Amino acid sequence: MSIPLLFGPYGSGELPANIKDYGVNARWFHGFNEATFAACEEQKLEACVEFQTFRADFQKHPNLIPIGIDHKPIRYGRLVQGICLSQKDYLTQIEEELLAGMKQFKPRGIWLDYLTYAGWFETSQPDLQESCFCRDCIADFCNFAAVDATAPEEILASYSEEWKNYKCRKIADLALHYSRLIKARMPECIVGAYMCPWTPDEFNGALTRIFAQNYQWLAEAIDVYTPLIYCSKSGRSRGWGREWLEQSAEFVPDHRKVQLILDGLDYPESLEEAAASDVPSWGIQLYAGAPLFHDPDKALAFKHSVEAIRSHCRNEETSF
Ligand SMILES: [Zn+2]
Repeated sequence: MSIPLLFGPYGSGELPANIKDYGVNARWFHGFNEATFAACEEQKLEACVEFQTFRADFQKHPNLIPIGIDHKPIRYGRLVQGICLSQKDYLTQIEEELLAGMKQFKPRGIWLDYLTYAGWFETSQPDLQESCFCRDCIADFCNFAAVDATAPEEILASYSEEWKNYKCRKIADLALHYSRLIKARMPECIVGAYMCPWTPDEFNGALTRIFAQNYQWLAEAIDVYTPLIYCSKSGRSRGWGREWLEQSAEFVPDHRKVQLILDGLDYPESLEEAAASDVPSWGIQLYAGAPLFHDPDKALAFKHSVEAIRSHCRNEETSF
């Protein structure tokens, strides 16, 4: 499947009538939102859905809170993602929402969000906790790894590699399941995944150890990887996206695309840096980007970066 270069804002908010003059050809938005699909159609923009997988309101659904090493529900803050994946009813509900959305709408792409174990990473000082050690998850792990262990401490001390692999496999299998549901109905629909933006070595391997996102194992399910490059929120420099792209060949399978999502808060510097990267981002999403396009100077800055990225991508394609 050939994957088009898509550029545009993520989120709600009206876009100016001449939005296409600024290099925008797509927009990403939360859920199967009827009004935004209609707006996309009117403005001739490709509609891409951010589909929420493993994230829930823990106040309303305390049974979904993963269990930590101390046998208690994990600590969590406002941005927490990840749930106990033994909660089958909730998994059924996610699947039903996906199927219902695809019955009604035909998005150009569906980006799976929160496809991880529990934690949050939009911060410079993450509170990383191992999970989920509920009885059902431990039993599932023992069955997967053919080991006999019941205590979280024992699992982490004696079977840490098996535990990490179990979690990564679980996430990759669920991703593949959703991807197959999508491709069976819409073979040309792009399946994306929002990714923890850390490289595999950062925070002691937390990308796989905590969030269970293994780029290699997800490759069968995912066409486009979208790391959340939110520089200010994560206490990083505006060149973070560029640095990330330039390292990405070390861990992203080479037949898969990377499309950064940048934060409107870091605009335009982070986009200009990313546009200068020798390794191009395959399109760009701009989080909370809609308001920026009402300022012609900022909108033009977007257009210039789009042109630079398109030219890098053309070079990349002809080099094969
Ligand atoms: Zn569990």
